[in-house]
Amino acid sequence: MKIICVGRNYKDHARELGNEVPSEPMLFLKPQTAILPKRNPFYIPDFTEDLHYEVELVLRICRLGKNIQTKFAHKYYSEIGVGIDFTARDLQEACKEKGQPWEIAKAFDNSAPIAPKFIPVADFDDLTNIDFRLEKNGEVVQKGNSGDQIFNFDELISHLSRFFTIKLGDLVFTGTPAGVGRVEIGDRLEAFIGDQSMLKVTVK
Ligand code: ZN
Repeated sequence: MKIICVGRNYKDHARELGNEVPSEPMLFLKPQTAILPKRNPFYIPDFTEDLHYEVELVLRICRLGKNIQTKFAHKYYSEIGVGIDFTARDLQEACKEKGQPWEIAKAFDNSAPIAPKFIPVADFDDLTNIDFRLEKNGEVVQKGNSGDQIFNFDELISHLSRFFTIKLGDLVFTGTPAGVGRVEIGDRLEAFIGDQSMLKVTVK
């Protein structure tokens, strides 16, 4: 399986990092080894001095597809969860400066904690109005709503499937809202969809 991620999909987040709002989705991948095993703590890797959390809604792909039209895209994901796209911001900035790929900053081992449970799409009233948030040590640090995405779920699936065949079990990280920030040893992160606690991560 693979994890397909979308960068800069919320205007307020693109701006907070000084990036332009993109005219088409900006994609990158994380490998299967990026998934943090359930209930494991997350250990800050020794190669970064500036590790950031990014909370994101995550789609679980339910069937094989390629070149999917936007109007059919909803048939390709059946569940929505939440995950954290851990980012070594210092390495990412260095890569961006040199025009190099981002993988060492984004796709390293355990960089993708994912909620153990997903919510069936049918349980949501409106996919363009899903509230989600991240708390750090009990304090809200990121708040998002899927309605603020620059590219909605169906547009993302359509776009990314032009480049990558999607398969059952693949995951799509759909971008982070504003409020990204640094984590330190001892931090406790908790991600919510609506008021439902979905994911807890202890940073070590
Ligand atoms: Zn992200």
